[in-house]
Amino acid sequence: MTMADTHDRLDLPLAGLRSEFDGEVIAPGDAGYDQARTVFIGGPDRRPVVILRPAGTSQVARVVTLARESGLPLAVRCGGHSLSRYGVCDDGIVLDLSLMRALDIDVEHRTAWAQTGLTAGAYTAAVGAYGLATGFGDTGTVGIGGLTLGGGIGYLVRKHGLTIDNLLAAEVVTAHGEVRHIDAATEPELFWAIRGGGANFGVVTRMKFRLHEIPTIVGGMLMLPATPKVVVSLVEEALAAPDELTVMADIMVAPPLPFVPPEHHGTPAIMIRLCYAGATDAGERAVARLRGLAPPIVDLVRAMPYRGLYEMDEEYDQPLVAVRSMFVDSITLADAETIIEQIRATSAPMASVELRPLGGAMARVHAEATAFAHRSRRVMATAAVIYKRSEDRPRHEAWVEHLAAAIRDGSCDSAYVNFLGNDGPSRLRCAYPGATWDRLVAIKRRYDPGNLFRLNHNIPPGGTS
Ligand SMILES: Cc1cc2nc3c(=O)[nH]c(=O)nc-3n(C[C@H](O)[C@H](O)[C@H](O)COP(=O)(O)OP(=O)(O)OC[C@H]3O[C@@H](n4cnc5c(N)ncnc54)[C@H](O)[C@@H]3O)c2cc1C
Repeated sequence: MTMADTHDRLDLPLAGLRSEFDGEVIAPGDAGYDQARTVFIGGPDRRPVVILRPAGTSQVARVVTLARESGLPLAVRCGGHSLSRYGVCDDGIVLDLSLMRALDIDVEHRTAWAQTGLTAGAYTAAVGAYGLATGFGDTGTVGIGGLTLGGGIGYLVRKHGLTIDNLLAAEVVTAHGEVRHIDAATEPELFWAIRGGGANFGVVTRMKFRLHEIPTIVGGMLMLPATPKVVVSLVEEALAAPDELTVMADIMVAPPLPFVPPEHHGTPAIMIRLCYAGATDAGERAVARLRGLAPPIVDLVRAMPYRGLYEMDEEYDQPLVAVRSMFVDSITLADAETIIEQIRATSAPMASVELRPLGGAMARVHAEATAFAHRSRRVMATAAVIYKRSEDRPRHEAWVEHLAAAIRDGSCDSAYVNFLGNDGPSRLRCAYPGATWDRLVAIKRRYDPGNLFRLNHNIPPGGTS
């Protein structure tokens, strides 16, 4: 029996915390409780014993110690966008970093120290004022904490690599409540693990990122009709393009939105979100090649500041998601036919297969340099459904599973930890094949032998779940 099994929640010194804790203490019955336990993805109601929002690192250490000593489950949250809803728990402590949003920009040396309560959008807007950027993902509301710890695949992945390739140092509160300042020289194993190994090794309170000069980009959304040939050609063009160009292509049924001409509503389309991080005229030439693949249905691509990409964010209200993601080396005509056929066939309210052609700077980092192991894979493919009614879950999970099985390379089942949803624990091993898993387990055993940080895509200290 663990301490958590025997714990009486009344033991938690809430009254003391309210008077001494530097930050916010939100418990059942408090006005903000329901809002504070809400995360981005919808799902079963979860009721933590308390939500603690520390004002700084010393208070984070205090919460970690409190969780360890009380035996209560600990959910750590930055942006709250975990697809598995790890940012909230039942009968435990939520450590919510959202008050910790300091950003210290060193324009001269092109670096920034960021507290991990920041979202990608807030960070990008702040450094964008200096014409600088660090690459995160496709959505501004995602937290820099969760995204970076899993790898970070976004609009600059081909030009400047994964987000972790731009992480220079970090401040981490370990399971023992110690504050460590780590980088590749001072604590290389822990620093290796937090670059891709997810949330398993401690609470990362600050991250130091490399900044790149990106005054303007050519970017936005281009929608093309989806035929198998256009899908395959698009992937080939994107892989052969200069590293400056990164493309995310969602194959879907064209939605009945005002900017989509009515004759295309309900027809298969590719919604391409793209970023050319380089000279505008070269960007226009690169985009012209994509425009030439088929007459565009919608063309919203233009020169803009990099931070303008996050202005395309869509609004969701507690969506339910079914998602299966993998890395493949090619998209064949047969794959593209299957994708379009399945997209046409599903009755899901919103279904898509997203293809992200990779390569470039991400692939030039050695596979063993960080805990993100899939450097050489050429395309990330993700089947996803966004839906509303929980009773539809089996149908949508079956659809994404079926599609993923159809386009998987067969030889190597792979996964991106940040895109794991309800895949089940066995697929975590696909994110960390072979020696990567063994090394992560050894580091977990050293830094968190009691598995305090277990509400995550968990790497158990014993190696097996
Ligand atoms: C709409 C949407 C778009 C997305 N787009 C992309 C994309 O383009 N590219 C991409 O790579 N990923 C993308 N993701 C996936 C995203 O990177 C992961 O869901 C990520 O874990 C979310 O981080 P968060 O901080 O917002 O979430 P949270 O739910 O707060 O945290 C996620 C996990 O990380 C842990 N964690 C968070 N912060 C810390 C910290 N400081 N220290 C220790 N542990 C921490 C949490 O405990 C949890 O296990 C997207 C997700 C969504 C929902």
